[in-house]
Amino acid sequence: MPERFPASLQQKIEDRLRYYEDLGIRLFYTDRGPGGASFTGLEAAASAPSTAPVFEESALPKPVPKPAPAKVAPVAGHPPLVAPPSGPSLFEGTDKIKDDTLLKIREDLGECTRCKLHKGRNKIVFGDGNPKAQLVFVGEGPGADEDAQGLPFVGRAGKLLTQMIEAMGLQRQDVYICNVVKCRPPENRAPEPDEVAACSPLLMRQIDSIHPKVIVCLGATAAKTILNTTRGISQFRGEWLEWRGHKLMATYHPAYLLRNPPAKADVWKDLQKVMAELGLQLPKKSKS
Ligand code: URA
Repeated sequence: MPERFPASLQQKIEDRLRYYEDLGIRLFYTDRGPGGASFTGLEAAASAPSTAPVFEESALPKPVPKPAPAKVAPVAGHPPLVAPPSGPSLFEGTDKIKDDTLLKIREDLGECTRCKLHKGRNKIVFGDGNPKAQLVFVGEGPGADEDAQGLPFVGRAGKLLTQMIEAMGLQRQDVYICNVVKCRPPENRAPEPDEVAACSPLLMRQIDSIHPKVIVCLGATAAKTILNTTRGISQFRGEWLEWRGHKLMATYHPAYLLRNPPAKADVWKDLQKVMAELGLQLPKKSKS
């Protein structure tokens, strides 16, 4: 953006544009060029003592606190198995489906029309990665880039997630990445309860079939869906929970981190717990 305003105002405008971009509103700006949101400080992070906050903090505006949820439900149990409005059930009963595979689940999904999200989608974003991964990341739902490519987390938030995975000493292909809903909600709004109810059984089958040691929920939608809770994510973020024999950690969504870089330090703490659980070491700093 050319310098036409005082620096502080220009910074505010750029921050606001980034925020809109994260929401998927992309029509009113041209390319900002290099220097968008970054996960800078990663190299330093990787070699820093494990307790150090690792991601660069910036002067982005403070997050607006969300109101606390009215109801507090226990963090346990199974997600509600609400029958999808149309089409055969994706999830037969509460037990694990024997010998389920990602391929079978994808076939069962087909060209899904079980909820209204199918009307606006370009591509179903089923999930991507290692079908035998020890670590599964679950996001909310596809954005514009994911909808165009049919792959999860390939936009700006996705690039940040990739950096997070690499900071853990892993590659994207080592883990499995998927979402609560497989079709893009319009204007990147949060998925609605009927959409989550129609699609989440598929997510449960994906997780059951992969059988990872650890599930990381990225953001409130994933955490609340899997844990079947209305509790705010800040109440249990960073704590080890158990879900159907898997260890589960909820942490902030990468899109939130793009708007609130200081929260990267919390996420890195959470990911270090995950690394310890998986026996992963911080990558060694190469001598130059
Ligand atoms: N945000 C998500 O929750 N999932 C994606 O796949 C991309 C962005």
